[in-house]
Amino acid sequence: MPEQPEIAALAERLGERVAGRVLAGVAPLQFSALKTVVPGPQSLIGQPVAALGHRGKYLVFDFAGPRLLVHLSQGGRIDVEDPPKATRPKGAVVRFAFDGGPSILVKEYGTERKAGWWVLAPGDDGPLAVLGPEAGSPEADSLLLNGDDRRRIHTLLRDQRTVAGVGRGYADDILHRAGLSPYATLAGLGPSERAALVEAMRATLAEALAAERRRAGGLPAKLGDHFTVHGRAGLPCPRCGSDLRRVSYDSHEVAYCPACQTGGKVLADRRLSRLVR
Ligand SMILES: [Zn+2]
Repeated sequence: MPEQPEIAALAERLGERVAGRVLAGVAPLQFSALKTVVPGPQSLIGQPVAALGHRGKYLVFDFAGPRLLVHLSQGGRIDVEDPPKATRPKGAVVRFAFDGGPSILVKEYGTERKAGWWVLAPGDDGPLAVLGPEAGSPEADSLLLNGDDRRRIHTLLRDQRTVAGVGRGYADDILHRAGLSPYATLAGLGPSERAALVEAMRATLAEALAAERRRAGGLPAKLGDHFTVHGRAGLPCPRCGSDLRRVSYDSHEVAYCPACQTGGKVLADRRLSRLVR
């Protein structure tokens, strides 16, 4: 899933192509992906894009008042079509056309139909209203330094209502970098561990943003080639060389290094237990 670094760099690239350009057309290509009814998407046609940015994992097209949001969820991706196209490729979600610029196609890989888009009236925050502070912001840092949340830290980092922008991938990398168990709780961390967590989040997201800024065009199907531990269970830890391990859940898996993060303890893995039994 694209997370804050992927979306932030994507917003920069798209901004270079369409900021200042007038929205010339909107072609909904998948019925259920538009999450708002009023105002309708046609109301934006003829208006220039004032700026393109992001909030958490949402792409934000700012029309100097109204806003258009795109959330790519798990398998959503972006094609920049230059010259513009009028095709309807497999998985197409919506296409935006701009006067004198490329078209932007939102599409979806795989079977999960979850990418969505919103048209917001001026002053309406829509789904942004429930987001926690942006990962890497002073507000998010303060929450991590002072909060007493008792959930597992990996769960907390992925909860967009607590801290916005981090998902499964960078949560693994941040906790590995901080030397913290994914099962630790924020409430149970001491001051030096909290400082390490904040610094790991800052450094991990900054490095990922720098890597994402080397991309060109939209956002391709395959992402995550610069993760340090996420998705790498069974491979050697880049810091100590021990085998990275995983804890499997129905929807995702958590990767970690026992030597660097859990004092050598291997966390129980349901899938592994099933296999052994
Ligand atoms: Zn290690």
